[in-house]
This record gives sequence, structure tokens and C-alpha cells, in this order.
Amino acid sequence: MDYWKDTTECPVCKNTFMYSKVSTAAISVKSYDKDLKPNYNGPNPLKHSIITCPNCFFTFNEKDVKDIHKFINDRNYSKIKDFLSKLYKDDFFEVNNYEDKSNNFYKQQIVLASEIYSILDLPFEVGRLLLKLSWQYRDDGDEGRELKILNDVLKITLNYFEKALDNRDTIFSLFYTGYIYYRLGDKKNAAKYLDKLFRMFKDSKSPYIRAAKDLRGELE
Ligand SMILES: [Zn+2]
Repeated sequence: MDYWKDTTECPVCKNTFMYSKVSTAAISVKSYDKDLKPNYNGPNPLKHSIITCPNCFFTFNEKDVKDIHKFINDRNYSKIKDFLSKLYKDDFFEVNNYEDKSNNFYKQQIVLASEIYSILDLPFEVGRLLLKLSWQYRDDGDEGRELKILNDVLKITLNYFEKALDNRDTIFSLFYTGYIYYRLGDKKNAAKYLDKLFRMFKDSKSPYIRAAKDLRGELE
């Protein structure tokens, strides 16, 4: 069995809904791209990492099912309600949280979730979501849109680097700032941010540091 089903309660409208998850045993990484984008044999767990409430369209990372209510408060709750109330059912290809979800709906989920995490004031989550969107465009072979989304990720990593709460966010910011400059053909800035990453995390065994070294080698 590649998938199993789980149930959760929507933190906004309290509707209970089911969704599919890829079973751990079915996850097999074939290769990683230069920016550590995983390519899978079999099911793509990224596609099932975001879920949408079929009643109110609240959309969030499946990893956050237990914690997301902690980020919802009186102030942002009304903003979320307001944002969701402006969505129209006809704008959706489908609401599908199951294994036959389309790539188009997955991309739409990422856009919705990035708006919602932005309201929740979680910019690094927004950055990670948009990175996933760029990866889906890469899989689709649409480099124009991929680069456009990477530009949006770059704005976030540059703007919020100073606000990183932990090493995970700092490494994310520096690595993807370097990588995106590399993709945009700006070798000078790519080298600058990758070198900063090495200075700050010299002894780290993070796979990002190893990937950054390979990338840095290509800039010579
Ligand atoms: Zn809901």
C-alpha cells in the first residue's frame, strides 16, 4: 500500500475531512537536483504534504495538523476568514486531498497555503512553500514560471534573513539566496551568499553545506 488515509479537523471551520498520505515505506528518492530538490521513484510525497478543507478551503501543511491552531489568534483569524470568503468554488479545478490529486490543484494549494502562512506571519514557511511551487514548475518543464517563483523566494530570503529564528531558517535563506542567484546568472552574488553560509556553518554536516560546496565549485 503506497497510501493511507488520515482524518483531521479544520482549525478554522471545524469540519472533519479525510486525506491521503504517502506511506513511509513507499517513499524512495531516485536523485537530488543541485538545490536538493528530491526526485522520487513512485509517489511524490510533496504533492501530499498540503491539504485543503473541502468546506472552507483553509489550506495548510499536513505536517502542521497538530500545531497550526497555535498560530491562529483573534487578530489573524478574521483576516483568514476574510481571505477565504473571497475565494469562489468555481475558481478551483477540484478540491482533492487524495492520491489522484492533479498537479494543477497541488499548485493551487501551494498558492493558497502561501497566502495563509503569510497572514500567519510565518515568512520562512511561505518561502518553503514557494520553493515547492518552483519545483513543480521544474517538473512541468516550465522554466519561465520556475524562475519567476524563484525570484519571489529570493525576495523572502533576502528580506527575512535577519529574522531567522534558528539555524534551519538561516541555512535555508543563505543556501537558496546563493542558489537562486546562480540560476539567475549572477555568479558574484551567488558566491557571496554561499561563502557566507560556509563562514557561519563551517563544521556543519548539513546536506545543504555539501550541496553548497558543489555549487560553489561550479562558479569558479
Ligand atoms: Zn474548514
